[in-house]
Amino acid sequence: MQEQPFKGDFTRQEPIAEDAISAAVNVMRSGRLHRYNTPSDTASYASELEAAFAHYTNKSYCLACTSGGYAMHVALRAAGLKPGETVLTNAFTLAPVPGAIVNASGVPVFVESTVDLVIDLDDLEDKLSSTGARWLLLSHMRGHMVDMDALTTLLSRFEANLIEDCAHTMGSRWNDSMSGTFGLAGCFSTQTYKHMNSGEGGLIVSDDARFMAKAILLSGSYMLYERHGAAPDQEIFDGLWLDTPNLSGRMDDLRAAILLPQLASLQENIDRWNERYMAVEAGLKNDRFIAMPKRPDAEHFVGSSIQFRIPTFTADQCTEFVRRCADLGVELKWFGRDKPVGYTSTHHHWGYTPGGVLPRTDRILARLFDMRIPLTFSVSDCDRISRIILFVLTRMRHPQAAD
Ligand SMILES: *Cc1c(COP(=O)(O)O)cnc(C)c1O
Repeated sequence: MQEQPFKGDFTRQEPIAEDAISAAVNVMRSGRLHRYNTPSDTASYASELEAAFAHYTNKSYCLACTSGGYAMHVALRAAGLKPGETVLTNAFTLAPVPGAIVNASGVPVFVESTVDLVIDLDDLEDKLSSTGARWLLLSHMRGHMVDMDALTTLLSRFEANLIEDCAHTMGSRWNDSMSGTFGLAGCFSTQTYKHMNSGEGGLIVSDDARFMAKAILLSGSYMLYERHGAAPDQEIFDGLWLDTPNLSGRMDDLRAAILLPQLASLQENIDRWNERYMAVEAGLKNDRFIAMPKRPDAEHFVGSSIQFRIPTFTADQCTEFVRRCADLGVELKWFGRDKPVGYTSTHHHWGYTPGGVLPRTDRILARLFDMRIPLTFSVSDCDRISRIILFVLTRMRHPQAAD
């Protein structure tokens, strides 16, 4: 059997839709790119986006800002994190998460991950108890959601606060509740590789009026917070603005203009992602060498990427596997490398944190592969990709087989 290389581009997103392009062009024609620069009788796109996203997540308040990392940093500050305080977070996450904690003057302490790629609730309980931490910045890394009922029960037992990193779970639900709605705040990213694309961008949602007033002030609202689309009542701000620094990180109207129409088509895209995810998963899940994370029925995820482990592989075999897949056009990331490559770094590479000993997570990451599923791939592309992965695996098991 001969396999032809796959030609698709794993980093290519769909173009911005025409309605979003016209909205952006209108903003540029008007010259009014700053969110507070719209005529006083006109709502800015940024404030319309805030109202629409608050509605979408069923939350009272929303703030649009410059990035997902900024959203998490500002959320921690608005929540009242004190300098030097511990913030627990998943050991398996992306670099902007510990970065946001450090930016907010907190100290990240990593919690182990399970083979299903979610935070390990036993280790979380141990660390809540041993550190006395008041904060969990929970990363729904690669779209995997932990049992949110068990998590919120555990946190309330320790009176710890939850902030969710929903960079990979915009539109996901646990039972009927949307990700980002389980704790004090949910933080989202609209960076190009996430579920809505404005190049860079972030959103924070919350039901807590005081928290959101502080977040809005921190984002650099000057005294123009009444121009926000999903903000608390004016009097909430009264006691706060004198004491809250301006950390300038507003979303501009150009980005908001292209995001608003994308929110309207988000559900349609989620369905398309899941169709593609199912195609890749169906190909891989019956191979006895491949271990897929278990996904509970309560988790309604967005399959914009897929992860799997090959538990029997050595590090050399992992390297060879990634190389052979790449030769056939299939771009896998491997979390077991000793040096960071592209977007893939691990807690070992975050030398600005106290680090930690995380043997369970390390064992998992050592054999964990990850693949993006861009919407520019068709479902049959996804079938093809899983065939190539299985082809490579078979060749590695039976190296004597002739091509
Ligand atoms: C992308 C990402 C972020 C941060 O988003 P930016 O908008 O790029 O700052 C946070 N957490 C995870 C898991 C991410 O993948």
